[in-house]
Amino acid sequence: MAQRELSRAGRVLAVLLESPGATRPQLCQAAGLSPAAMQGVVDRLRQGGAIQAQGFSPSSGGRRAQRYGICPQVGRVAGLSLDKEGVSAALYDGQMNRLAEVHIPFDPDGSGPEAGLAALAGAVEELIALAGPGAPLLCAGVALEGAVEAGRVAELEGAPLWKGFPLELRLSQALGTGVSVSRGSWMALRRLRAEGQVSKPQCAALLRVGERVVEGALMAGGQVFQGGHGHPGALGHLTVRRDGIPCPCGNTGCLNLYCSQRGMTRQYAAQTGKRCASVGELFTKMDQGDQAAIRTVSQALGYLAEALCALALAWDPLEILVDCPYLARRQALLFTMIDAFYARSAYTRAEQAQVRLVQPPPLPLAAAAWALAVHLPRDPRWRD
Ligand SMILES: [Zn+2]
Repeated sequence: MAQRELSRAGRVLAVLLESPGATRPQLCQAAGLSPAAMQGVVDRLRQGGAIQAQGFSPSSGGRRAQRYGICPQVGRVAGLSLDKEGVSAALYDGQMNRLAEVHIPFDPDGSGPEAGLAALAGAVEELIALAGPGAPLLCAGVALEGAVEAGRVAELEGAPLWKGFPLELRLSQALGTGVSVSRGSWMALRRLRAEGQVSKPQCAALLRVGERVVEGALMAGGQVFQGGHGHPGALGHLTVRRDGIPCPCGNTGCLNLYCSQRGMTRQYAAQTGKRCASVGELFTKMDQGDQAAIRTVSQALGYLAEALCALALAWDPLEILVDCPYLARRQALLFTMIDAFYARSAYTRAEQAQVRLVQPPPLPLAAAAWALAVHLPRDPRWRD
């Protein structure tokens, strides 16, 4: 976030959204304000109902410092995630406590963006109806499995009709409130940091294995790198097999086709002619000695190790966080992949980049938190 453009109150709110429970000295440092200036801003935000005292920091010998957080009653925020199953949405208060949750089945591949817009706006209406009377809706965040450039959908995996659609503007008009649309993996990485799961925010990479995409994301200096066109980390379109199957991107043999959850089940079906509903079912077949299942899984692990190498060699991160639902269920496979990565070259050893599995936040939560971080500091009530 471009903190320099924010008012002083905005800078304090932005820090508290990314680091809940910060103390006044921490706020001074992160927001670049003197203790005297901070006193005035904190008093005003407390009186205005934007922030509240939130206990004390642990004692380190001297006086314990007061911690601050966003007020839950400051307003409500909707978090939405659009994937091949439909729209998953949840409504949160200012402290990201969940107030209501809905799921609306929807097929982004088969439907155009106008129908998608209606599904997203409908989900927010339903959330508000479910939660009942309360604080007003402050903003909404949308997470996509795809690239977003200046609020427009640059690419939505498997849904070409969406290309160029100004989703941020249109949903903002439909809801009458601020909207942020962003790549799901970026929002997840920011939220992981706010939750304390990123131990090296100065340079950390994320490898995210989704339903149909494999993505990378980089955090440098605590900020997610956004590239020139919203495409950084589109690792899933690295060619891993020159003789591979065609990919919607126009190339052949892309990583997504072998390592995403859908990619793995399709690989198995292509080899055997038998349907396989999920990666969990594929693992069961592997345990039963099914040779095609064993090949499919070991091929995916090998290519994922290559993806880790691509992240390490391109960005030299201090740590690589792995968000992969199927490896989270099978730790032995995770360690096989990590060993293959560490053994590959002098640049990929354990002392170069620590690899570890993370518990990803739900995408609606990550999207809502990011929307609040963007829109709350812009609220006219807190302007200096
Ligand atoms: Zn591709």
